[in-house]
Amino acid sequence: MLEGNVVDVTIADGLIRSVEKSKVEGGTAVEENGFPLSTFHFPLTVFPGLCNMHSHAPMTLFRGLGDDQPLDVWLNDYIWPAEQKLTDELVYEGTLQACREMLASGTTAFNDMYFRIPAMVQAVRDSGIRAMLGPTFFGDADECLNGKMLECLSACAGNTQTIKQSNNQAIFYSIAPHSIYTVTEKGLRRCADACADLHLPMHIHMSETQKEVDDCLREHGCRPWEWLDKLGILDKLGENIIAAHCLHLSDNEIKLIGDHHITCVHCPNSNLKLGSGYRFLMLELLEAGARVTLGTDGSASSNNLDMIEVMKTAALLQKGWRGDPTVVPAEQILKIATLGHSIAPGQPACIFLSTAKSLSDLVYASHGDSVAMTIVDGKIAYRK
Ligand SMILES: [Zn+2]
Repeated sequence: MLEGNVVDVTIADGLIRSVEKSKVEGGTAVEENGFPLSTFHFPLTVFPGLCNMHSHAPMTLFRGLGDDQPLDVWLNDYIWPAEQKLTDELVYEGTLQACREMLASGTTAFNDMYFRIPAMVQAVRDSGIRAMLGPTFFGDADECLNGKMLECLSACAGNTQTIKQSNNQAIFYSIAPHSIYTVTEKGLRRCADACADLHLPMHIHMSETQKEVDDCLREHGCRPWEWLDKLGILDKLGENIIAAHCLHLSDNEIKLIGDHHITCVHCPNSNLKLGSGYRFLMLELLEAGARVTLGTDGSASSNNLDMIEVMKTAALLQKGWRGDPTVVPAEQILKIATLGHSIAPGQPACIFLSTAKSLSDLVYASHGDSVAMTIVDGKIAYRK
């Protein structure tokens, strides 16, 4: 709203309190209670914090492992065997590295699915970023029944009550069945029941490859979203489903996703690198009523966690495959990447300062290394 002006942003109790035209010219000063904390001797632009809506943070440890392989070979021959060797210490280190990388590139919150959640919780707390963490399930998801999952989440959050009322915390929880091709019908039902009981979102990979769609048609006689619908999961959880990828969709599936206001996470760099596809139906999903967001996916498939790079790839892909340079302008992609947050009074003080001089500069000409400072809930979590 004050684009092009030098502004003073006042923050208190984790919220932006005021945004006013500044009398100071040239340079950026960050102060706390009137005392200078940092002074940058060049102007910086303030942007709302980016939300990385699909990641596997500890996979920073696997960056570069199995590059240039098909998805099934990459998972079966490289990633899953490597994951067998993980320990709590390694998951903590990988998560902390990921959190620091995200903060250093303007991300203030991320949505993750992985294992060894208590180790991840510690790393998130130590880094100062916001996160939603979901334990990943495969097969029949037995842990949903025998109490292991609840035990795990309770240990992280302090107690079950805290999980249910985690809205005021910097850490939120979800339940993450990996996908419809790695979780059985029984497992999907159990995860959905657990989500409903605990009032937690479900985080799942959906419609990532054509193979997933073909296998689903052969095994269940319907497409992936129709399969979830048949199991009653869409009606049960509705907008509490966060689905990564959503790349291979029929018209009927777009209608199902839209009618249930599902959150779809477009991860263009991961999809391109794994050769999964590039025709993400962003406009059609938005038109149908879905919520569209952006993510990096894990560092093993996107090789970095740079959401500024993701914004550019996502916007360019839409323009490219549709043959229309007017679609998904910079304002729209920033809105999608920040879940609609803005620099305005009352908004959470989750912001970053960048050397980018304008929105165009940020989306089309910058990378994560343009970020000079990142503030999460009013606290400086990263400074160059
Ligand atoms: Zn993923």
